[in-house]
Amino acid sequence: MKFYMPTKLITGAGSVAQSAERIGALGRRCLIVTGKSSAKKCGALDDVTAALDAQGIAWQVYDGVRQNPTLESCAEGGAAARAFGADFLVGVGGGSPLDATKAIAVLAANPGLSEADLYAERWPDPPLKSVLVGTTAGTGSEVTPISVLTTESGRKRGLRSERLYAALSLGDAKYTMTLPRAFTLSTGVDALAHCVESYFNKKADEVSRAFAVRGVRILVPALAEAAAAEDAAALSPELRARLYDASILGGLAINTTGTTVPHNVGYYLTEHYGVSHGIACAVFQPALLAHVKRTVPETAAAFYAETGTDEETLLGVIRAALPPLDIRMTKAEIDGQLPRWENNAAVQSALGDFTPAQIREMLTEMFVR
Ligand code: NAP
Ligand code: FE
Repeated sequence: MKFYMPTKLITGAGSVAQSAERIGALGRRCLIVTGKSSAKKCGALDDVTAALDAQGIAWQVYDGVRQNPTLESCAEGGAAARAFGADFLVGVGGGSPLDATKAIAVLAANPGLSEADLYAERWPDPPLKSVLVGTTAGTGSEVTPISVLTTESGRKRGLRSERLYAALSLGDAKYTMTLPRAFTLSTGVDALAHCVESYFNKKADEVSRAFAVRGVRILVPALAEAAAAEDAAALSPELRARLYDASILGGLAINTTGTTVPHNVGYYLTEHYGVSHGIACAVFQPALLAHVKRTVPETAAAFYAETGTDEETLLGVIRAALPPLDIRMTKAEIDGQLPRWENNAAVQSALGDFTPAQIREMLTEMFVR
């Protein structure tokens, strides 16, 4: 077994207010990193600023992070942190602001760092310390050292370094109450994808599988319930808490293993077709499940036995959570993309060896008409 997750994680009602002293121990000047408006709307920003005020910490907000955050916006956030003289960061939001906070922590301390140096972990100075406050129940970015950024080429690329762990992660499912039904479902299937992709990963071990299995056990009934609800108002705080817990479990699973084929092929759907992250990854779960049933049937059987579900139920939950996708691809387009999945460590980490040729087959079957 291998397990390393050095972030102090505190979740539950009032976790931000109760952690004011812990936040105060990180420094005297803080840059808060958010998306456009949800941090305000969901109440998390007010809780964070109240905790900072109570500790006499000077703060400023950088709200320039957008979905699928760009490296450019992280450089801008880094410059804002330097200009303000921030000695630590608090990221508030879904995976986009949380991932951006990790990169901003590096770029604030290392101005002018090139993309190559950022990804090769050639950072002369250590990143700033950070606190992450999640407002979606999806990515589990709160507990991973992964920052997925849209790079200068327009491609999404994961940066992973043990130096990217937050000092402190605070979760309170009440912040997810304002998440619309569609985002609740798309972030929920992202969490499910993390559990499934982690379980069927060559790097999986007893610890990561324990998290993945528990995540699936919570998510299958919770997502079915969420998908059946008419709107977000019908989702109870208790259901929100289950979804949030499961998203953290998914994060703890991929913290060890990373993700695999569905995530990496999903990036392409997001980049080229604007599909939101969770949906883009979830549409490839059926293909992954079929693949592992064929190539590693005993592991697949163990997965269903341990999670207390079966393939039909799991596929039904994913189907119910997904909106219809109208995507058409040509064979030439697919062939043009294949090189990105060759010699790709994440793709190669799938059990049963999911080859680029099989990715071509999967995309052809799904999108060529
Ligand atoms: P997101 O991109 O952070 O946010 C999606 C949308 O939801 C935004 O419009 C956001 O608004 C809104 N929103 C967020 N919280 C809300 C709330 N409580 N109430 C109302 N609206 C809210 O979504 P995400 O799915 O959590 O993150 C996706 C990103 O995470 C992708 O870039 C993906 O690649 C990455 N990811 C990272 C990891 C990892 O391990 N680090 C794993 C999986 C995915 P605002 O813009 O106003 O905030
Ligand atoms: Fe994801």
